[in-house]
Amino acid sequence: MRIPIIAGNWKMHKTVGEAIDFVTRLQEELGEWEGTEVVVAPSFIVLDPVAQRLKGGTISLAAQDVFWEEKGAYTGEVSPPMLRDVGCRYVIIGHSERRAYFGETDETVNKKVKMALSHDLNPIICVGEFLEEKERGDTFNVVERQVKEGLRGVDAGTARQIVVAYEPIWAIGTGKTASPEQAQEVQSFIRGIIGDIFSPALAEVIRIQYGGSVKPDNIDELMVQPDIDGALVGGASLEVESFARIVRFERK
Ligand code: PEP
Repeated sequence: MRIPIIAGNWKMHKTVGEAIDFVTRLQEELGEWEGTEVVVAPSFIVLDPVAQRLKGGTISLAAQDVFWEEKGAYTGEVSPPMLRDVGCRYVIIGHSERRAYFGETDETVNKKVKMALSHDLNPIICVGEFLEEKERGDTFNVVERQVKEGLRGVDAGTARQIVVAYEPIWAIGTGKTASPEQAQEVQSFIRGIIGDIFSPALAEVIRIQYGGSVKPDNIDELMVQPDIDGALVGGASLEVESFARIVRFERK
């Protein structure tokens, strides 16, 4: 059985004060919430104070990126041991915004994934196609390449820690969600690729999230799909009420 995982990617939002206020209210709102793993991904400088507030609770912490070396002369970068040190359990890798604006490639995604795993950080690997690629009928090719390259050389012994987030780029921040059936088709395909790389048994335990304009009013229908194991949420994760409602999706 795969435990659903709902993660909020705050991107470049929330100061320390706003973040503390948010997680305090989220904890009150959710109480001792069980059955769904809840993750928040603040910006780097907000990680530590949020980690202090989350101590002893059930909400996990994720970073939005990581570097592929442990230490050294890499101005501006943050290493896996640093993220572990402040209490991160997850790290988002290869978000389409990092690929689009910061030169992230399948190769750098792969280096980061392997480095994160070697430090016991669970990578949330983002994949997804541009609108033009979808319109050309290239969705499956693009996603296959991103998954295969992202996981190249990953040891099967650590692979169960991986989460894959299918995020069609045309659905991110646009209000255009993939239909539950569209997302299911791609996510079932992704599970098949993971099965080919490792084994079908391992593919059955790896969680695959959907991301792209997930909101309180579409989460229930998305989560009904057999290969949608959770959501990576941008905009709707910034308000306690909408994020809490997404966490409490209706189980059908
Ligand atoms: C995201 O950036 O990962 C995302 C899915 O954003 P939004 O929910 O705002 O579409």
